[in-house]
Amino acid sequence: MPMTVIQWFPGHMAKAKREVQEKLKLIDVAFELLDARVPMSSRNPMIDEILGQKPRLILLNKADMADEAVTEQWIRYFHDQGRLALPIDAQSGTGVRQIAAAAKEMVKDKFEKMRAKGIKNPRPVRALIVGIPNVGKSTLINRLAGRHIAKTGDKPGVTKAQQWIKVGKEMELLDTPGILWPKFEDEDVGYKLAVTGAIKDEILNLQDVAVYALRFLSTHYPNRLAERYGLDDIPDDIVALFDAIGRRRGCLTSGGAVDYDKVADIVLYDIRTEKLGRLSFETPASRT
Ligand code: GDP
Repeated sequence: MPMTVIQWFPGHMAKAKREVQEKLKLIDVAFELLDARVPMSSRNPMIDEILGQKPRLILLNKADMADEAVTEQWIRYFHDQGRLALPIDAQSGTGVRQIAAAAKEMVKDKFEKMRAKGIKNPRPVRALIVGIPNVGKSTLINRLAGRHIAKTGDKPGVTKAQQWIKVGKEMELLDTPGILWPKFEDEDVGYKLAVTGAIKDEILNLQDVAVYALRFLSTHYPNRLAERYGLDDIPDDIVALFDAIGRRRGCLTSGGAVDYDKVADIVLYDIRTEKLGRLSFETPASRT
């Protein structure tokens, strides 16, 4: 499904926050969906304030595309903050089966109290998925539902009647997720979201995004770059690196010069389709 361009304004943000908080009244546990490749950049900057004390399970989605060792570091990082984080791949379903059990565990005390008050068969655990656009909310809802549910527009304020989706016998999920905005102020965050495909390409200059990506890969994954593009060494100079990749890939204009737009296209396509392997763009140590 093509991504809708979203324009967030202060009014939209306030409304999105309000909408999520309205939904919180209906649920026992929130699933904070993050992109495993960029868990901090794909996080809403006000999430703690928005979710308050509501039990929260962090789901590191698209873990299939992330560097496994780095995902492990993130799980430890969240654990040290007293939060449980599970790596999942909503598209294939890997890890998704653990969600209901983890959610149940998180609300154990609340349900114990219900039982103590004499409620013999407590209702299923009620949950809500929250996350920024394109992090995989709809994919996860469909995966948990085991069927296809139409996606609501990624527009703040687009609402429809909410329904509960049954997930097994013990969990119910609101069929419309809470859509939150990412951290816009930080340029680095914008680039990371663009590289991983969360921000539509038209919004940022493609060459700038590719420059960011290539600088990152030169530092953190030089061998992958060298291997993919058949380079003996990685030039320090970014233009020289564009030239080297362009020549290798035959991205030349009719005049014989390297076509930098084409190089940018190829590099970003390769990253997003895992041609450079599984990549993570931030670690707990580098987090912004
Ligand atoms: P939403 O805007 O948060 O509802 O995001 P979507 O569910 O529409 O997903 C955005 C894109 O990410 C789609 O192209 C999905 O196919 C893809 N996607 C979602 N989850 C995963 C995942 O776990 N792994 C991979 N590789 N892609 C995913």
